[in-house]
Amino acid sequence: MRLSRYFLPILKETPKDAEIASHQLMLRAGMIRQEAAGIYAWLPLGLRVLRKIEQIVREEQDRAGSIELLMPTLQLADLWRESGRYDAYGPEMLRIQDRHKRELLFGPTNEEMITGIFRSYVKSYKSLPLNLYHIQWKFRDEQRPRFGVMRGREFFMKDGYSFDVDEAAARRTYNRMFVAYLRTFARMGIKAIPMRAETGPIGGDHSHEFILLADTGESAVYCNSDVLNLPVPGDDIDYDSDLSGIIEQWTTVYAATEDVHDAERYDREVPAEKRVHTRGIEVGQIFYFGTKYSDSMKALVTGTDGTEQPVHGGSYGVGVSRLVGAIIEACHDENGIKWPEEVAPFRVSILNLKQGDAGTDAACEALYQELGAKGVDVLYDDTDQRAGAKFATADLIGVPWQILVGPKGLAEGKIELKRRSDGSRESISAADAVAKLSS
Ligand code: ATP
Ligand code: MG
Repeated sequence: MRLSRYFLPILKETPKDAEIASHQLMLRAGMIRQEAAGIYAWLPLGLRVLRKIEQIVREEQDRAGSIELLMPTLQLADLWRESGRYDAYGPEMLRIQDRHKRELLFGPTNEEMITGIFRSYVKSYKSLPLNLYHIQWKFRDEQRPRFGVMRGREFFMKDGYSFDVDEAAARRTYNRMFVAYLRTFARMGIKAIPMRAETGPIGGDHSHEFILLADTGESAVYCNSDVLNLPVPGDDIDYDSDLSGIIEQWTTVYAATEDVHDAERYDREVPAEKRVHTRGIEVGQIFYFGTKYSDSMKALVTGTDGTEQPVHGGSYGVGVSRLVGAIIEACHDENGIKWPEEVAPFRVSILNLKQGDAGTDAACEALYQELGAKGVDVLYDDTDQRAGAKFATADLIGVPWQILVGPKGLAEGKIELKRRSDGSRESISAADAVAKLSS
């Protein structure tokens, strides 16, 4: 992408109403624009990151055996009357009437709809286990939308739903999702710690929240610092094997949200020097809720003994749009964003430090073509801004690698390769830079 032809509306001033770094940086870097309280347009740079995060979530769900579908944003109120949640959900639910005076709502979550889909097709335990997910916009009319996309009203979520014949099978599915979540967040370059959590309005008796530790987080959390160094299962993970050893390793170390914090156990089990009491951002949550929806909505299957019984369910959410902000909270400095490679909007930016100089232009052009041909996502700053402004833009938008191209270096056959994460620079030939960045 040539910056001169891109749409990257950078702001010079820090917007006054943005309280935290990620919100400020997303606005300044031209990633989002607020359209109404808690409702954002995703500008091209922001959309690129959102799509990268979405794709990692999708790949790890698929790998763990969950199957993607897509449900609509609008749902019939009658479906929610069946589960009893139409009245219970309260003012966070956006209720809508169509021209026939039919009551609809903009979905805040999809347990009812997926249970409706399930019960119309699945009648026997032989079709189980079944695990379905979608990645779709949600609406919750939050009392206090704030911190940009971190607490929006309209937001993008991966929500998955599992169906199993009994509790033991449902626990195995829960464990798969637990491991899939560990892998998902690790791939994004962040540490999200699974913590015991309250089950909230979705209900049920077993739940973990995945929490990214950050001072600006909305939840207070307590954990043993050992949990920060546990290994995350690698690409060779076998989801059909017994995962209980991995789960045990992660769940025996103390880690809990404030709501379920057990002060006595914490004091007893965690040595003083390992106690971490801080704040965190909830980037995902998993639940086992048993027969809560299958009872009320009559989602029954015939079991091995031939009798009809309610199916055992779980639900699994990832805050895809919240993650864009959360990752920035974890990865930035005073100059801007420092994207982890896997979620970066571009992998490389080329900075032409003397636009209009024939030799520099030609060298940049050649680099741009070669990297593009090797499938590397490149942003080429070919604008007529001064070098200082180009440095500032590149640091602000946080692309992991910057190639600085100017006449002085070129005279010696060199360009400078700068790494955004630690600011380190090396002077190398253009060919070596291409080789390094396309490997
Ligand atoms: P919270 O406690 O933050 O209000 P929740 O527990 O109600 O969230 P879930 O129903 O567990 O949310 O939704 C799954 C995920 O969706 C959350 O873990 C979070 O990452 C994300 N999410 C929830 N509410 C919002 C929101 N208002 N804006 C952005 N992301 C959200
Ligand atoms: Mg939650």
